Amino acid sequence: MEVAAPRRPGDPDLPAPLRGKVYPRAVKGVFARWRVALVWITQAVFYGLPWLQWNGRQAVLFDLDERRFFVFGAVLHPQDFIYLTGLLVIAAMALFLFTAVAGRLWCGYACPQTVYTEIFLWIEKRIEGDRARRMKLDRAPMSARKLGLKAAKHAAWLAVALWTGLSFVGYFSGIRGLPAQALALQIGPWETFWMLFYAGILYTNAGFLREQVCTYMCPYARFQSALIDGDTLVITYDRKRGDPRGSRPRKADPKLLGLGDCIDCGLCVEVCPTGIDIRKGLQNECIACAACIDACDDIMTRVGYPKGLIRYDTGNGLRQQWTRTSVLRKVLRPRVLVYAAFLLSVTVALFVHMALRSPLKLDVIRDRGVLAREVEDGMIENVYRIHLSNRSDAPRRFVITVGGLDSLTLASEPTMEVGADADRQVPVRVRLAPGVAGPGSSPIEFTAQALDDPRVEARERSTFFVPR
Ligand code: SF4
Ligand code: SF4
Repeated sequence: MEVAAPRRPGDPDLPAPLRGKVYPRAVKGVFARWRVALVWITQAVFYGLPWLQWNGRQAVLFDLDERRFFVFGAVLHPQDFIYLTGLLVIAAMALFLFTAVAGRLWCGYACPQTVYTEIFLWIEKRIEGDRARRMKLDRAPMSARKLGLKAAKHAAWLAVALWTGLSFVGYFSGIRGLPAQALALQIGPWETFWMLFYAGILYTNAGFLREQVCTYMCPYARFQSALIDGDTLVITYDRKRGDPRGSRPRKADPKLLGLGDCIDCGLCVEVCPTGIDIRKGLQNECIACAACIDACDDIMTRVGYPKGLIRYDTGNGLRQQWTRTSVLRKVLRPRVLVYAAFLLSVTVALFVHMALRSPLKLDVIRDRGVLAREVEDGMIENVYRIHLSNRSDAPRRFVITVGGLDSLTLASEPTMEVGADADRQVPVRVRLAPGVAGPGSSPIEFTAQALDDPRVEARERSTFFVPR
């Protein structure tokens, strides 16, 4: 009677909750280089952006107390919420598009969970060693060496998590001086709370939960199946070519042995950060990191078989053994083109609207406390309250003019300075020569224009009242 071998933690045949800790083996290759490049790029942006200065202040700062959001030269306010909505629509459309083209590209390369798990794993490997050493260390009883290695790893993880939490808070409180204040325990209670909260989430998710976040907590894995179809590029094992699997002597002809190209080395499973076996087909847990492609390509090269036993391919392409060109041609299907066109239109519309957005707002209210009155030379005078909002990040001087009726003149100082991202309200007197307009209200128009840039201009309609 054949007795089944006992299953050990890490066995991909076990259900995910019983698999235990996954010890992914390090892998080299084209896709590994892409993942490392994405880690560098995303983290250079995240950690570096708050330190960037623009016109003497932090380039990207979300000042919640003052309800102002500085994004390089633009100063946004809660009423500019439409831009945030636009950005969310762009993000959603981009996710739909990339998923329809190549499945979970976001998960495999740019998702913070993937990126920080890569960083934490890299630290773990540097301190505890490669996969075999890490497994041996975890199985070994506690000793001074094990305690030292574990303490060093957790200290390094905590340092990264705290620095990341501090950088996150820096986007809202201003990063300059924040590290020194944090070291001196002088940051405010809210800053302390958010820094520790963010650091705690990162430490737990990237250090301990890892693939469990993708498998059980992330909703994207659940609805991705609705976004992909038979022409989506996914990471697949070519069963027709690979099976039947089995080890063989180095120079043996697999056809004579009745074997496929898979030598059943198990490396594609050992490198998988979610601990699954891609040879069983597309699974919810697969985050499309392509580590199994790199591992298998390396093995194929070593045994002298063509690469691509595990590769990006489509379900239809694999079934019908299409060529690479036919697969790529099918990827550009109508659905993808519609997503791409919509994404492009929303992106262009958002950026054009932002670029053309006037940094100046003008409101005019006729001062009802001061009635229209007759002044010297029989002129009729009305008084208005001019409200100017300068939404640029530098102080500006504006000139006010009024038109709409012949001989209408401004009897107050026509220029006024308004500070950077500030409002100013001033009363102005407007005069009209007698007999130009009949009794009652006549439409007029105020214009405010920046002296340093005539393109910065705002207009507002009002009325001029002539008494009977
Ligand atoms: S790495 Fe390639 S050859 Fe090795 S088990 Fe996986 S599919 Fe088979
Ligand atoms: S199956 Fe391959 S692509 Fe999917 S998560 Fe595992 S290693 Fe990454």
